[in-house]
Amino acid sequence: MDDIMKDYVVATPNVITVPVLGGKYFPVRRVFCVGRNYAAHAREMGGNPEREPPFFFMKPADTLVTRNADTPYPLATKNLHHEIELVVAIGEGGSNIASANALQHVFGYAVGIDLTRRDLQDAAKAARRPWDMSKGFDASAPIGNIMPASKAGHPATGRIALSVNNAPRQVGDLGDQIWPVPDIIQALSALVALAPGDLIFTGTPDGVGPLMRGDVLEGEIDGIGIVQTRIV
Ligand code: MN
Repeated sequence: MDDIMKDYVVATPNVITVPVLGGKYFPVRRVFCVGRNYAAHAREMGGNPEREPPFFFMKPADTLVTRNADTPYPLATKNLHHEIELVVAIGEGGSNIASANALQHVFGYAVGIDLTRRDLQDAAKAARRPWDMSKGFDASAPIGNIMPASKAGHPATGRIALSVNNAPRQVGDLGDQIWPVPDIIQALSALVALAPGDLIFTGTPDGVGPLMRGDVLEGEIDGIGIVQTRIV
């Protein structure tokens, strides 16, 4: 089989996986992220939550930090920020998915942290340049295990919170999302064809702030689970 395997000129990349509660693994294809999806966070970032439809950016799949592994403090920043987020795991692909059918495409949910090099993001915004280097850097996406929707359902409300060194930093409610999950799936699938293995980080509540080496992060979403990592 696979004679072509012998002909690759460099080492082949591993399949990135996230453990699923109860066993087995979710293979990751792509990581999409929603910007400014809670009004209070949109305001703290200087935006206007009333008038902005959802917009998206991406992180490479191999930026995920799984299994509560440590997160190395990244290169090239002096202002690393945490953003706690509900993550949607797509089980069934499609394009132009109607919000009424969107939840049928969801395999499950996880708790994720959209780490951001805020200084690089501020510079990119000022220069009207892309966000990739402020968002898609190495180890920029810690994520907890995936809770199957078959067990937990599809939470539309519930506490979402992040503590750093046991001190609360972010506390919000999924019900405060400007664009709830079905609307996010409709909007994103109108831009690209979604596929099994895609993850969608759905935005963060307010309270984002800086991290330092040695900080211990614990994020939690009611009924979904937790994410833990230490910045090293
Ligand atoms: Mn975010």
